[in-house]
Amino acid sequence: MKNKELFSKINELIASYDPMVAEIISAESYRQRNTISLIPSENYVSAQVALALASSFTNKYSEGYPHVWKEGVLIDKNGRYYQGQKNTNKIEKLAIQRALELFTDIPSDYHANVQATSGAPANLAVIGAFLKPGDTLMGLALDFGGHLTHGHKVSVTSHYYNAVHYKLNEDGKLDYDEIEKLAEKYKPKLIISGATAYTGKIDFERFGKIAKKVGAILLADISHIAGLCVTGEHPHPFPHADVITSTTHKILRGPRAGIIVCKKEYGPQVDKALFPALQGGPHMNTIAAMAVAFKEALSDEYKAYTQQVVKNAKVLSEKLKEYNFKLISDGTENHLILLDVINNKNGISVKNASWFAERLEFAGIVTNKNTVPGDAKPWNPSGIRIGTPAVTTLGMKENEMVKIAELIRLTALHAEDDSKLTEVKADVELLVSKFAQNSNFII
Ligand SMILES: *Cc1c(COP(=O)(O)O)cnc(C)c1O
Repeated sequence: MKNKELFSKINELIASYDPMVAEIISAESYRQRNTISLIPSENYVSAQVALALASSFTNKYSEGYPHVWKEGVLIDKNGRYYQGQKNTNKIEKLAIQRALELFTDIPSDYHANVQATSGAPANLAVIGAFLKPGDTLMGLALDFGGHLTHGHKVSVTSHYYNAVHYKLNEDGKLDYDEIEKLAEKYKPKLIISGATAYTGKIDFERFGKIAKKVGAILLADISHIAGLCVTGEHPHPFPHADVITSTTHKILRGPRAGIIVCKKEYGPQVDKALFPALQGGPHMNTIAAMAVAFKEALSDEYKAYTQQVVKNAKVLSEKLKEYNFKLISDGTENHLILLDVINNKNGISVKNASWFAERLEFAGIVTNKNTVPGDAKPWNPSGIRIGTPAVTTLGMKENEMVKIAELIRLTALHAEDDSKLTEVKADVELLVSKFAQNSNFII
């Protein structure tokens, strides 16, 4: 049985009890199969990841860890609060072991925590592990591509801590001399390197030197680029960073969750900061699915996938440039492209980026609006953020990127014209359904 048939059988089972929910699930599958997801933080999981999520582990409470810490040494001993942990301990230890294999060269020098329910709590736990309320942390400003949890004013990471920010320079690149100056001025206890909308490579070695100079802990939040770091398509944060956080559902193609990997000496405080300080019982079904996803990410197929993600982004960016779109930093070195669709007098521009994102969706192309460096009004940004992880999972290659660039161009040129965009939508459906039909991934 093909995965698509298997999952529609599963939905029939849901329908036999709850047709209302089954109908909405089925509509979402239809939407995903007939639109192109260019949201750079999205992906499609394999059947084995999806089925691990649906396993009996979802029934189990397992507060605590499958290990205990004694004077900084990890002891292989049941550290759970409830009974019945024979199998939860096995699966969590396996997930930790695979995480260390995936993210480090010398697993015995590091510790991994796989219990964060998502990327944001993983960051909160790390901040809590190293800072007291009122201490200073430094991260990339949100309107320059940083994440909310890097100290934005609406996040608890600025309510409880003193958050200071670095920005990008006019070319849309990190300015390390400026970061160093700010670090010397503010003496943060924690420096966060990482972004949700950065098109360049991050120099973790330089970040590490800056952190060392001012006595800060360096956190590399690689949520967006984790898959590129572990396959060598992007420089790796270790050994320069003290801690890595990442989501596991973006380019890593696993379940929605977060992971923390740190130097072993920080293991006890990181574990304590996540549980019991921040979360209750871990989601053991998610941890089972993470173990599967890490096995996949260790494979040669996954390495080839990440290489193709980067190739696809390059081709897509070059084609968009050829069409006179304005690209932040004039291109991309990773999986992500940021278009400034407003401030581009001599090329392609539209009247409003949020509106353009809606028009793209009308044409079946799903993206998100985004600030571009220097945007005065973050609530009314000038940019559109696109990325290639999802379309590459579907099996799309360079030829399809050329086609997608053309479809984006047509949508921009005829953004007001419903009938023209209906034609674009038909092309989109034709393109994506061909790949979705044959995909082994859950779409
Ligand atoms: C996505 C992301 C997060 C947060 O992940 P959630 O799973 O949405 O909580 C944190 N940091 C960065 C850099 C991200 O891109």
